[in-house]
Amino acid sequence: MLPTKGYAAHNDHDPLVPFTFSRRDPGPHDVLIEILYCGVCHSDLHQIRNEWHETIYPIVPGHEIVGRVVRTGNAVTQFKTGDLAGVGVFVDSCRQCENCKQGLEQYCEQGMIATYNSWEKDGKHYTFGGYSNQIVVDEHYVLHVPENLDLKGVAPMLCAGITTYSPLRYLEVGEHTRVAIVGLGGLGHMGLKWAVSFGAEVTLISSSPHKEADARRLGAHHFLFSGDEQAMKKHKAHFDVILNTISAPHDYNRYLQLLRLNGVMAVVGLPPAPQQVEVFNLTNFRRSIMGSMIGGIRETQEMLDFAAEKQITADVELIAMQDINAALDRLARNDVKYRFVIDMSTLQ
Ligand code: NAP
Ligand code: ZN
Ligand code: ZN
Repeated sequence: MLPTKGYAAHNDHDPLVPFTFSRRDPGPHDVLIEILYCGVCHSDLHQIRNEWHETIYPIVPGHEIVGRVVRTGNAVTQFKTGDLAGVGVFVDSCRQCENCKQGLEQYCEQGMIATYNSWEKDGKHYTFGGYSNQIVVDEHYVLHVPENLDLKGVAPMLCAGITTYSPLRYLEVGEHTRVAIVGLGGLGHMGLKWAVSFGAEVTLISSSPHKEADARRLGAHHFLFSGDEQAMKKHKAHFDVILNTISAPHDYNRYLQLLRLNGVMAVVGLPPAPQQVEVFNLTNFRRSIMGSMIGGIRETQEMLDFAAEKQITADVELIAMQDINAALDRLARNDVKYRFVIDMSTLQ
């Protein structure tokens, strides 16, 4: 077993504290990764605070992991020592169901094995995430990270990046699409970058009017303050695609009404409580609402390669591991530009 250092939450209200635990020795198909950077996703916060009512403590969060391979099992073929490597939201799946076979492991019929807060397939071991100095993962679930990108800006792509890339690709967003990205946070700022890079006409819709300048700097063609009822009314039946990244309970109907004929709202934000949808907002203009969860391994690799080609990374605030609790508080207050990333060299 490999002694490992990390930070854990032991309940839903106390700060995260240093925590030591064991990782398995790398098996034949595993790689051991020394973690260099780990992003701080709002899903980490939801789970630390048990907002989805499924947290098992202690929890070591973190599923936006970039590091270097330091050891490989003897059957590993795709990685060698010294390679850059990425790990996202899941570290295993059944590999046999139709969805796994299609490369949609995130929708595994048996349920994916999440990078943290999840039981391993053996039903005995529990996963611990990337707020730690190292991780052992089967090579099939490890991504190749391009050498020509800023590594700290790559980490958030393993969740925020792919979660926004996947639905925009699925909906074939391109030159003739009017897209609205709702919420300028970790996911939203990546969604904005992707939609602009795909050639769409992009509006950033925000509940924070002071974010307009940043939205435009990040490439938004238009900015809409969701608190401005007149402006919202003017955009009724306007968009083809809305990507909704809002993390808190809110009225989905206000955004559905902004969709034109056959418009689709892709929901990726995961508010803790059920929300109500007025069915007339769907039947009118044949609108749809869909959900989307991260992306499969193949598509995540495609995204990283696309990012390398277009030189796209996340805008991050780098923090020391010791500052994680202050960062989580700021994330809860909607005060981050636009992703906290932990510099793991600070973990002593
Ligand atoms: P984040 O950085 O905190 O961004 C969320 C944004 O939502 C905020 O920046 C804010 O943008 C907006 N917002 C927050 N409270 C709001 C409110 N009451 N009303 C309207 N807008 C509000 O969070 P994130 O890391 O991007 O994650 C966003 C959500 O996606 C979380 O629920 C997370 O769990 C979920 N998620 C889902 C997946 C998936 O696979 N589906 C993957 C990762 C994360 P403005 O200030 O611009 O309004
Ligand atoms: Zn995430
Ligand atoms: Zn499966």
